[in-house]
Amino acid sequence: MELQSKVAVVTGASRGIGREIALELGRGGARVLVNYLRNDEAAAALVAEIGNARAVRADVSTAEGVARLLAVAEEEGGAELLVNNAGITRDGLMLRMTDEMWHDVIETNLSSVFRVCRALAETMLKRRAGAIVNLSSVSAHTGNPGQCNYAAAKAGVVAFSRSMAKELGRRNIRVNCVAPGFIDTDMTRALPDEALREVTKLIPMRRLGQPADVAPLVRFLLGPGAAYITAQTFTVDGGLS
Ligand code: NAP
Repeated sequence: MELQSKVAVVTGASRGIGREIALELGRGGARVLVNYLRNDEAAAALVAEIGNARAVRADVSTAEGVARLLAVAEEEGGAELLVNNAGITRDGLMLRMTDEMWHDVIETNLSSVFRVCRALAETMLKRRAGAIVNLSSVSAHTGNPGQCNYAAAKAGVVAFSRSMAKELGRRNIRVNCVAPGFIDTDMTRALPDEALREVTKLIPMRRLGQPADVAPLVRFLLGPGAAYITAQTFTVDGGLS
């Protein structure tokens, strides 16, 4: 219960990796604010499962959504822990990628991280205590055909996080990234079976990861055991990269 009495915000927590992170932070004793976009039922079920939690429907790709998330965090006394996990894919080859596909992914996967961090850092600055984990991806350093928008956003998340860590380290606010490989969620289930089979052959552990392979690391990075760890990116990919 190392996170007891702390409020944690997890964006994009109704499904997939974010859901597992929210459960794990709940097990660590945190009060969890479960942010999501559309999936009311899934968010309500998760809140019931965690117990000490609250659902916050808000689109983190917009300034209004971030303002709503901040308002709820303040109602809860302010968040010291933050996981920027919300993410989307709009895959397509670069030559055929529309401005909209580019813009949607950059706004949801990168600009949201900046806006949510900027909004929630205020409480952390006042308390001189805070820990943030931002979800990047192995594609940030390997690149991935069909994902130039996604890879660029996820590389941006790493550079943003390192810079923020260097700005805020003296105020005892830590910022790290977790970069998953292929994790079994709706995001990867959208890929063709054949592509997943081929990718699995390249993974030394010969399987996709599960959300539960990622969440304990996020919990650790937010907790006291990681008190001197900041500005880092940790890969969870079964050896792929
Ligand atoms: P997922 O299963 O597709 O779930 C995405 C979650 O994000 C959902 O809870 C969704 O909410 C929420 N969301 C989407 N847009 C949002 C917005 N604008 N505002 C608030 N919430 C929003 O995704 P996942 O596979 O768990 O991925 C989680 C994170 O890990 C993402 O950042 C992803 O890029 C990263 N990642 C995933 C993999 C992988 O293999 N799965 C690999 C590397 C990195 P609703 O359901 O309510 O719409």
